[in-house]
Amino acid sequence: MNQRQTIRCRYCGQLNQVEPRPEGIPICGRCRLELSDAPHKKFRSLDPHVYVHPLDSQALAALKAIPGIDPILKKFLSLTYERYFRVVFMASCVKVSERQYPHLHAKLEIAAKTLGIETPDLFISVSDPFEGGLGFNAFSSGLEKPFIVVNSLLVERLTDEELLSIIAHEAGHVHSQHMLYRAAAIILVLLTRYALMASPITAGISTLLSMTVQAALLNWYHKSELSADRAALLVVQDPRPVQTALMKMAGGTLASSINYEAFIAQARAFDESYDEHVLDKVWTLLAAAQSAHPFPVWRVSEILKWVERGDYQRVLDQVS
Ligand SMILES: [Zn+2]
Ligand SMILES: [Zn+2]
Repeated sequence: MNQRQTIRCRYCGQLNQVEPRPEGIPICGRCRLELSDAPHKKFRSLDPHVYVHPLDSQALAALKAIPGIDPILKKFLSLTYERYFRVVFMASCVKVSERQYPHLHAKLEIAAKTLGIETPDLFISVSDPFEGGLGFNAFSSGLEKPFIVVNSLLVERLTDEELLSIIAHEAGHVHSQHMLYRAAAIILVLLTRYALMASPITAGISTLLSMTVQAALLNWYHKSELSADRAALLVVQDPRPVQTALMKMAGGTLASSINYEAFIAQARAFDESYDEHVLDKVWTLLAAAQSAHPFPVWRVSEILKWVERGDYQRVLDQVS
């Protein structure tokens, strides 16, 4: 019997014709994610406060307690031409659309619709236009209209579910209204990385941000990743691709050599062994060094805890 079965994709809604007993798992022809009967929940109006990580809220509160912080950062961003960053990416990267990387466009729409945000722009970049800052990673910026940039290596080497997680993580930064502070942190890191702080053009700009502001900003920047990881999980609705995407960003993508169970065990061991005071010292040192290191093992351990304490399920259950 060659009777075809029609399955509606739970993520993007596309109707797919599939064989009744396909070999392997059938995937959606539009978004390329696995087809299944499991439901996929869409949040019509999700309040970021229900998932924002407490370390993120605490660090943000400390940042916001600095008098006049928002005007200071807005001034910093205007002097560093943040609004032209979009132009730089438009001029140097491929913009994702229904006709360009359509499966990524479908994933972008899934992330935006699930979290209930306006669809941001998505660019794919071989290297970032600021040379070397992006690496095997992705980022988002844009105060007026947010945009996401994903390194093409991720597109080549991650699974479709992992790519959805990466895009959803960035959409999570947009949803949590991180953009002002993240844009400022990213520019601060760029200025430092390329020793631009010392140049006569930018030296004046750097003095705008006192060491207190810089430390508070970068401390929060690291912790905001935890909230965006939770947003990614709320979109993907399966912890594994969120964790394996981070595992691959930590240790490479050679599928035959990298073991998911061993990595989860490593994340658990990390959680059991680290002392919060020690980690706090590490954050302070990293902020002083203006590092934007992503710490994937720590982030996986935080996602594990959120799932295992039932908090993730509680947020999901809010949607009928
Ligand atoms: Zn689909
Ligand atoms: Zn992030």
